[in-house]
Amino acid sequence: MDNIEFRLTPEFALKMDHDDPLHGFREKFHIPEKNGKPLIYFCGNSLGLQPKAVNAHLINYLEKWATKGVDGHFEGDVPWVDARKPSKSLLAPLVGASELEVVAMNSLSVNLHLLLVSFYRPKEKKYKILTEAGAFPSDQYILESQVKFHGLSPDDAILEVKPRANEHVLRTEDILEQIRRHKDELALIMLSGVQYYTGQLFDMEAISKEARQHDICVGFDLAHAVGNVPLQLHDWGVDFATWCSYKYLNSGPGNVSGIFVHQKHSDNDQLPRFAGWWGYKEEDRFKMEKGFKHMPGADGWLLSNDNVLGLAAHQAALELFEKAGIENLRKKSILLTSYLEFAIRETISDSEALEIITPLKSTERGCQLSLLIHKKGKRVFDLWIENGVVADWRNPNVIRLAPTPMYNSFQDVFEFSQILKNSLRD
Ligand SMILES: *Cc1c(COP(=O)(O)O)cnc(C)c1O
Repeated sequence: MDNIEFRLTPEFALKMDHDDPLHGFREKFHIPEKNGKPLIYFCGNSLGLQPKAVNAHLINYLEKWATKGVDGHFEGDVPWVDARKPSKSLLAPLVGASELEVVAMNSLSVNLHLLLVSFYRPKEKKYKILTEAGAFPSDQYILESQVKFHGLSPDDAILEVKPRANEHVLRTEDILEQIRRHKDELALIMLSGVQYYTGQLFDMEAISKEARQHDICVGFDLAHAVGNVPLQLHDWGVDFATWCSYKYLNSGPGNVSGIFVHQKHSDNDQLPRFAGWWGYKEEDRFKMEKGFKHMPGADGWLLSNDNVLGLAAHQAALELFEKAGIENLRKKSILLTSYLEFAIRETISDSEALEIITPLKSTERGCQLSLLIHKKGKRVFDLWIENGVVADWRNPNVIRLAPTPMYNSFQDVFEFSQILKNSLRD
């Protein structure tokens, strides 16, 4: 918060927006409306809003397909065979990687499986996976099925780090302690970057460092971290990571995922991998020869030819991140989320009504705040919906609010506080 003294007034919110160097980005998005008023959209953690520029990119795609047909593969500014390439230079700075280390492909759950084929390599004694308790369901099923695939039992092979009694989030010291305690049994550490339910930002640097000391592979699911917080995957020594593009990256529902594979694995022919023709050495791909030879870097994990339609929307969305800059977004995000936290505290006269379970330190969270609703349950949430607030409800009683710095405003937060006040009235 530096030295700004927050006030919960419309004038203060207006001034914050006026002084916000990124305020102009809101206009670059379609903000859905209800009863003629823009929604207070705090759901970028689930599905980011549509950048207006997506339209032109999709029209270009349709035009080219209509006018060139199959020749589009090798013609035009970006031939379809190269469709994923322009996204590399935009993704690399978002995750702190070189272009060699990243590629956009497939979807998140699929990529996690492909990466685990290469990076979860259980040995006789070292066969366990350390993960967080309460991980996103897909991630749980993925680990469970990978472990079974190797003929092991999930109950034995998957270790979950849990918060301490009466605490909601994990302590870094506890994660590190678990790694040390099980160092001789662990083959892999697989965690979220930002936890989807609590909004906790894990100390990926410290975790990776500890993992490396014990020769344990480390990977992160960055679904809630990419585009939310700056990342330095290469420097942190993370082995692999994957993310989706439809949450904070605003690339549209179900759109293409991305992977990171550390440069140190770039040329490793010993890694097992499930191969496909698009991961084959590019120079020789169309010789259609027998015997798989992988491309260097993350591209070596490609299977299929690119989803050009999806990549067109992804490109439009990523260009906004390049213009705004992830460090600038983070600066605003810290202010905006702190303001939301302040607004909630100022608004609830009854401190028993709800509780923020997300860490209160900015360094331990991204933009999301998760609220545990103690009174009135889902009725609170339903009243928000009626009044034009889009957040998301998780059973049994958690509401996640994610003010994103790209298109949310301080006025959104102020208006939300008024709706919150009314929703908690008896
Ligand atoms: C959103 C999310 C997913 C979704 O996976 P898809 O394959 O894109 O459907 C998976 N894991 C985490 C942690 C998520 O937050």
